[in-house]
Amino acid sequence: MAKAMLQQLSSRVMKGYDPIKLTEKMESIVVDGNKRKYAKLSRPLRFYGGTTSAVEVGCNLRCKFCFSDKPVFRPQSTGKFYTPQEVFDALDNTAKLNGHKLISASASEGTLGRQHLFELLDLVDQSDYVYVLETNGMTLGNDKEFANQLTRFKNLHVRVSIKGTNPEEFHTLTNAIPSSYELPFKALKHLIDANVSCNACGMISFSDKEGIKDLERRLFEVHPGLLKSLEKEHITPFPKVAKRLSENGLKPNSIAFKGKVVNL
Ligand code: SF4
Repeated sequence: MAKAMLQQLSSRVMKGYDPIKLTEKMESIVVDGNKRKYAKLSRPLRFYGGTTSAVEVGCNLRCKFCFSDKPVFRPQSTGKFYTPQEVFDALDNTAKLNGHKLISASASEGTLGRQHLFELLDLVDQSDYVYVLETNGMTLGNDKEFANQLTRFKNLHVRVSIKGTNPEEFHTLTNAIPSSYELPFKALKHLIDANVSCNACGMISFSDKEGIKDLERRLFEVHPGLLKSLEKEHITPFPKVAKRLSENGLKPNSIAFKGKVVNL
């Protein structure tokens, strides 16, 4: 009986990887001094009415629905190291060509490599661009001081992406320890307390109506204004994503297809 209880406890303790520990591991691969690995330095995207975005390498989650693939799942063999100046210059060139005012890096986790990020944000602050920092909220939720350090950047907006609508769903989607589901909510609280511009988005393709209501309630509790700017995300079933989901026995309730949400 005692042995069974111990096994149950141990399986609870061991359930999934710790995104904070994975952060350290990924940083040892994709960060070198003030350089960070990127798979591509800039490309125009249609989001937010047009933005120029770099493709970073390295993430501290392993979402089964992730469209990014090699930058997330093969960081060692993907991309090259670039300085903040090289990244900014490439973003600047493409943004100018396309008339974009928003620049960003996406397809991985934006908070890896704090020195690189801060030096990049210093360059952005000397320009007229606004930088959208894309994050899953793990690092910023775990470290209030990190959010405080972002206060000094004036051309910054942080977009915190929440995976699923409760700890178990989060674990099913990412394999991470369920308790780390709390971190993006803490990240939003830390950012709001530090007066850093931010909004939340929720990946709800695998959620039901009750779950979505719970997510909205939790965001309201952090700050009522978060509901107004909440973006509801749906997966795009690219072939590699569809294959990974099928291998993991996951079926979405909704997908994004040609700019529209399709309920399945
Ligand atoms: S947090 Fe984003 S980039 Fe990282 S694995 Fe999840 S979907 Fe991919």
